[in-house]
Amino acid sequence: MRLLLIGAPGSGKGTQAKRIAAHYHLTHISSGDLLRKEIAAGSDIGRTAGRYVEAGDLVPDNVVMDMLRGPVEEAGRGNGYILDGFPRTVAQAQAAYLVARSLDVAVQIALYLEVPREELLRRMHARAGAQGRADDTDEVMLHRLDVFDELTAPLLEYYARRETLLCVPGDRPVQEVTDTVIKEIDRVRAI
Ligand code: ADP
Ligand code: MG
Repeated sequence: MRLLLIGAPGSGKGTQAKRIAAHYHLTHISSGDLLRKEIAAGSDIGRTAGRYVEAGDLVPDNVVMDMLRGPVEEAGRGNGYILDGFPRTVAQAQAAYLVARSLDVAVQIALYLEVPREELLRRMHARAGAQGRADDTDEVMLHRLDVFDELTAPLLEYYARRETLLCVPGDRPVQEVTDTVIKEIDRVRAI
């Protein structure tokens, strides 16, 4: 099974992706986690990506695509993947689809975790305290939410048109969100 999660920063993508991956034995591929690893290692990708991530801007498409191609192909040929945080724009989705389709590892289901803005800010504040992420400062948080609304939210229409979109309310306790996501996936898989 090949899934991807769409959600604003703080919507619970990372939290849910780990749980869904464990439930269906999928590989969890988080573009944010991979970028933070590259940045910490000081690699070429990390040095290019660092200033975008710190500012709350999107890292250029080709950098992210190059980083993800290998892991997505490998997991796609195995038991499947759940992508967390990619694609972030319609252009990325289109480019990724062309590559993935030619390898026969294209996404089958897109899941949207819908959470109101006040709750997103509350969670990002809590995460900033707990994890100290450089992009969880007030100014950058607000900017990331704007970037989501402007560039990433159009993905919802893109996947809805392809009839691969499932929407789940993310403003519920963690276990309840997981249960709903699994129920929705099993429902469409049974069709
Ligand atoms: P994302 O990867 O979408 O940015 P995270 O999984 O890092 O989101 O979650 C952001 C923050 O919100 C984390 O501190 C996490 O513990 C918390 N969180 C995630 N899901 C929920 C939930 N359903 N209810 C309350 N807090 C949550
Ligand atoms: Mg995340």
